[in-house]
Amino acid sequence: MTLAIEGWFAVDEDGVFLLGTRCATCGTVTFPPRPGLCPNPRCDATSMETTRLPRRGRVWSYTNACYPPPAPYVAADPYVPVTLAAVELDEVGIVVLGQVKGLTVNELEVGMELELTSGPLSDGPLVWMWERVS
Ligand SMILES: [Zn+2]
Repeated sequence: MTLAIEGWFAVDEDGVFLLGTRCATCGTVTFPPRPGLCPNPRCDATSMETTRLPRRGRVWSYTNACYPPPAPYVAADPYVPVTLAAVELDEVGIVVLGQVKGLTVNELEVGMELELTSGPLSDGPLVWMWERVS
């Protein structure tokens, strides 16, 4: 299975997970993963560890994309508008943008709970997406 971005998410028998990094010293969590120096200015730790992020969160904001994004994005032809949501992850509180599967902007609202899933981009590789909690 080809992933749209290596190292940012993983798929196994338990489902789809975003891969972030966590500082063992101060607990700062980042996505995308940032190995190396901790980004917290009050922390001088130098090793961020890869961690699986919570799979659920709440809609922070949302929109739709009625025009295809620029290259290197490969748009379907004809282009099908996509729904995008910025979701604040449970526990860690960081906001992650992704396509929304099966919901239009009219069906989304701020605060609504969504769950991580995956789906193919128009040229085939898999990417993480958000969907209604089952
Ligand atoms: Zn730190």
